[in-house]
Amino acid sequence: MPNGQSQRLAHIWGMSFDTDIVIVGGGLNGTALALAFAQVGFDSTVVDALPVDTRKDVAFDGRGYALALTSQRMLNVLGVWDGIRGESEPILDIKVSDGRPGEGASPYFLHFDHHEIEEGPMGHMIEDRFLRRALLDRVADTDRVTHLSGVKVTAHSVETGGVTVTLDDGRELRGRMLVGCDGRQSQVAQRSGIRRTGWQYSQSSLVCAVEHELPHNGCAHQLFMPSGPLAILPLPGNRSSIVWTESSARADAIHDLSDAEYLACLRPCFGEFLGDVQLAGGRFKYPLGLSLAQSFVSDRVALVGDAAHGIHPLAGQGLNLGLRDVAALAEVLADAARRGQDIGSSNALQPYEQWRRFDTAALAVATDGINRVFSNDNPLLRAARDLALGAVNAAPAARRSMIRQAAGLTGDLPKLMQGRMI
Ligand SMILES: Cc1cc2nc3c(=O)[nH]c(=O)nc-3n(C[C@H](O)[C@H](O)[C@H](O)COP(=O)(O)OP(=O)(O)OC[C@H]3O[C@@H](n4cnc5c(N)ncnc54)[C@H](O)[C@@H]3O)c2cc1C
Repeated sequence: MPNGQSQRLAHIWGMSFDTDIVIVGGGLNGTALALAFAQVGFDSTVVDALPVDTRKDVAFDGRGYALALTSQRMLNVLGVWDGIRGESEPILDIKVSDGRPGEGASPYFLHFDHHEIEEGPMGHMIEDRFLRRALLDRVADTDRVTHLSGVKVTAHSVETGGVTVTLDDGRELRGRMLVGCDGRQSQVAQRSGIRRTGWQYSQSSLVCAVEHELPHNGCAHQLFMPSGPLAILPLPGNRSSIVWTESSARADAIHDLSDAEYLACLRPCFGEFLGDVQLAGGRFKYPLGLSLAQSFVSDRVALVGDAAHGIHPLAGQGLNLGLRDVAALAEVLADAARRGQDIGSSNALQPYEQWRRFDTAALAVATDGINRVFSNDNPLLRAARDLALGAVNAAPAARRSMIRQAAGLTGDLPKLMQGRMI
């Protein structure tokens, strides 16, 4: 419902709102959500604890995302994709295989070729700095979005017909509802009494970018090493983004090494197929865990992105899942407003919970299972999974279905992910 209408109704009910929806957290999902809300006619205020400049003016640091085709379609509809298309690298092929340090990839592998689907490349790699900047720039250009940065939300309270959010500078904001996009440690979820299920993996991901001698030809590699998957993902030029998962103890030790020693550990995992490899940009380490909110909604509150779910990065789907939440929530609330419903009511929010929670739990369980089966050096399991990879590779229907999944084309797709306006 447009803000003018919201203000008139609020006046009749004796309330006044500063905005339709308060979004706590202006990360990738929070900013995308504000743009999706603007598209359907809601005014929103995004509050983020970090100053905008520290999020925007970032030098090349090696972090990147595999954006599925459907996420790219949504960014296109939101007016973000054109600004980053030139900085992205299409993912044309994906090769999945077992590997061992020093031995390179196993001869049994699964090969996904984008020519097997009509829609085009399965996705694009985009550096974090370009995606973040493009979203923040678009937010700054959008009248329906107010962006408060460098301010923290410290409390919120739900009242009849609305929600009041308290900021750490003493200001208060009133909205008709609140969305928590505040990441894995979501305080919005905690304050709303939403519990989480999950566990820590005794694994961490080492993330960096490398420059290599030979071209990658748009091919992404997923090598399942004994202590965790190694993803080599194509960036523009002869560069790749690396997500290298190791046991936490080994990852700590490798992270503390000098650049030369770090490369000496990485090279044998990598193999020779890209020629000589050098570090480009910074190095990062992320401890891994699975964390799933037991509910995605409560009274006048919805959770989106990592605030609702944090999964193992092996399939590169965390952000894609969050963007699907964004598209689904915007569509559900737009439908509710068209029906004349109060957008913060449980009737309006329940369809979002039903749409997103099962899908998310299924992917969380699937990635958890793959990690358990593949991240070990048991010779029997190794033989079984090599056979399984070879068998799926020889079955075109199964291969095609997995390519469609990697592209995000399966399931009940929200309109934005089909590339349509809501
Ligand atoms: C190693 C690794 C590799 C990955 N690779 C991929 C990939 O290839 N593809 C993919 O799809 N996903 C990937 N992911 C997942 C992806 O990074 C996350 O899902 C995504 O960044 C989550 O974004 P978010 O906006 O939900 O949360 P966050 O990025 O955590 O943002 C939360 C924001 O909330 C703000 N905030 C928190 N508390 C408050 C408060 N009280 N008041 C105000 N602001 C607050 C913070 O400042 C922050 O800006 C990867 C993850 C990891 C760890």
